[in-house]
Amino acid sequence: KQELADVLHQLGIKEINPAYSTGLEWGGKEGRTTRDILSPADGSLIATVNMATAEDYDQVVTTAQQAFKTWRTMPSPKRGEIVRQIGDKLREHKEALGKLVSYEMGKILQEGLGEVQEMIDICDFAVGLSRQLHGYTMHSERPQHRMYEQYHPLGIVGIISAFNFPVAVWSWNAMLGGVCGDVMIWKPSEKAPLAAIACQNIIREVLAENDLPEGVFNVIIGDAEIGSLMANDTRIPLVSATGSTRMGKKVGEAVGARLGKSLLELGGNNAIILTENADLEMALNAIVFGAVGTCGQRCTSTRRLIIHENIYNQVKDRLLKIYPKLPIGHPLDSTTLVGPLIDKDAVNAFTKALEAVKKEGGNILTGGEILSGAGYETGTYVTPAIVEAENHYEMVQEETFAPILYLIKYSGDVENAIELQNGVKQGLSSSIFSTNLLETEAFLAHWGSDCGIANVNIGTSGAEIGGAFGGEKDTGGGRESGSDAWRIYMRRQTNTINYSRELPLAQGIKFDI
Ligand code: NAD
Repeated sequence: KQELADVLHQLGIKEINPAYSTGLEWGGKEGRTTRDILSPADGSLIATVNMATAEDYDQVVTTAQQAFKTWRTMPSPKRGEIVRQIGDKLREHKEALGKLVSYEMGKILQEGLGEVQEMIDICDFAVGLSRQLHGYTMHSERPQHRMYEQYHPLGIVGIISAFNFPVAVWSWNAMLGGVCGDVMIWKPSEKAPLAAIACQNIIREVLAENDLPEGVFNVIIGDAEIGSLMANDTRIPLVSATGSTRMGKKVGEAVGARLGKSLLELGGNNAIILTENADLEMALNAIVFGAVGTCGQRCTSTRRLIIHENIYNQVKDRLLKIYPKLPIGHPLDSTTLVGPLIDKDAVNAFTKALEAVKKEGGNILTGGEILSGAGYETGTYVTPAIVEAENHYEMVQEETFAPILYLIKYSGDVENAIELQNGVKQGLSSSIFSTNLLETEAFLAHWGSDCGIANVNIGTSGAEIGGAFGGEKDTGGGRESGSDAWRIYMRRQTNTINYSRELPLAQGIKFDI
């Protein structure tokens, strides 16, 4: 308790927290509706937040618009220097922020610390990127002409984030957007806003030390209504939204109706294929981490295991020996591997999904209980489930954000497994375990996995920041983090310069006046 109190003190979390921040100052301290933030780990009230109003939102947007005028004039490597300092501050506060993420969201401490490490890594990536925001030069078809392209800052980036990665996904967007010259308005999940407030407190020291204007990095505490204001706001050229497909469809539609840009990172229904040629020892680690890590609440969690019939029973038996021994408990306890679900609604969704899949013919092999008794008083701890099922079952087609692993049998060639893997609406992460080159290359071929992420001999869960992250189909099509994902945060301009004394027209058109 004392340790947690120290963590909250270090990160500037008060008993009641203001509704928004434009960088240096916090606003909206009273007279608003409030929301209590309870830890899914032990049900304690961590803190209360004030919820922002539409007027608060307008003020934040106006401040961000002003800040953009200054921020965009700063050379990009200089903006990179600010991001470098933010990375350093995050290093200083890694332990405390990791603990808060873990306590507020329920992921185990190792994963909380991993999330902060991901923020530090993206800062480093963005610093290097700040000197590499380059376009192409092209040869002009006209004599003594030069053609090239350049990338300019966009303006305000609206960032809507999900509860399960309460800080990392913001940093992927904000640090890239930051070096690109954009200003950010972050609406964290209403289920995990304290980690966002902590981030703002951490980076405000950097903002103050560098005399940056109010409004470069903003946070607004609110629910779907504030998110919807962002989606409909023509002052926000890019909305980057992470969350459920249901939310993404609404945000995508609203942003599309005003011809804005959206970057959508939505639900997954990720599968691992195990062929007869899989190295099972390696695969089992990946499967269990993928299926029960973060209590099944990662967008890249492994939800389906597509197993060749010849090794099906062996894999099933091995998993059934591992699952009952999984240590389930308080996420800050170092022996725990499976923490709680975020809240009771998530527990209900878990038990309902299991009932529904049973009705469809699914066979629950293990798990599915809600734990009670000492240490489990919150009712948010469940035993991870394994269910024998078929790919076409309605519940198997859906993403249930909880630890349910469906075992699906295939026979014949790897192509049959790939067809099952692709036979869902979502297209985020996928993986194959095989030591056979023909099988793994088929999986990576254009007729192979249709997902944004396709791994060989690595599970579905846990991507590196260096690659572009995102998925196809119902996952929304967005890409963020590494590779050239930065381009969406900028507007592209083609420039043609004539240094002759003639005015030849393109395509050889004659137009003498
Ligand atoms: P959610 O959709 O309930 O909420 C996500 C965010 O969207 C929250 O900030 C919420 O306030 C906001 N929101 C909800 N409705 C909105 C609307 N109509 N307009 C604007 N904003 C709205 O999702 P969640 O429960 O917080 O997170 C779990 C989901 O997120 C899962 O489906 C998971 O797969 C997905 N996710 C995807 C990725 C990815 O990168 N693809 C990463 C993390 C989580």
